[in-house]
Amino acid sequence: MRLQGESKCAYCERKLESVRYGAGEQDVEHFRPKKGIRPWRAPVSLRDAGITITDPVGVDRGYYLLAYHPCNYAAACKPCNSALKRDYFPIAGAFQIAGGDPEALQDELPLLIYPLGTFDTDPEHLIEFYGLTPRPVVEEGHARCRALTTLTFFHLADPIGRKNLYRERGLILCALFPQ
Ligand SMILES: [Zn+2]
Repeated sequence: MRLQGESKCAYCERKLESVRYGAGEQDVEHFRPKKGIRPWRAPVSLRDAGITITDPVGVDRGYYLLAYHPCNYAAACKPCNSALKRDYFPIAGAFQIAGGDPEALQDELPLLIYPLGTFDTDPEHLIEFYGLTPRPVVEEGHARCRALTTLTFFHLADPIGRKNLYRERGLILCALFPQ
């Protein structure tokens, strides 16, 4: 929690309560699910954008070697982890369930962004903001697919479903604008 920008959710970047009192509103999340992978069906908007998600058919277990790997942990808020992330792990490549090093698993072409450490792409190179609304930085390729999938998966561009997220973005812009 402390290493993640003083209790910032790994996915939506909302600031949560202090390390001392915030445990109840955060989860320690396994980025790659440790027990099993639930198939995530992409909505039409992503399929229309040409994004194909590998079906975990025949994958009957999770990333069992990553259950205790520090680079497979992330602190996430309850909405992002418990309601949305769960045991999903959409990728565009082939599953490498026996992988023991997250850094060596980039060939799986994960469609969610892992924002911790330095081995994955910096989220700022993938997602930018137009006013309150996030959007992909680049126009094509896997980087665009990741941005679109992450935004869709966590409902980061949904002002109704993530109304507190939007409200906090709005407050920050209101505070910054006069400066
Ligand atoms: Zn979150």
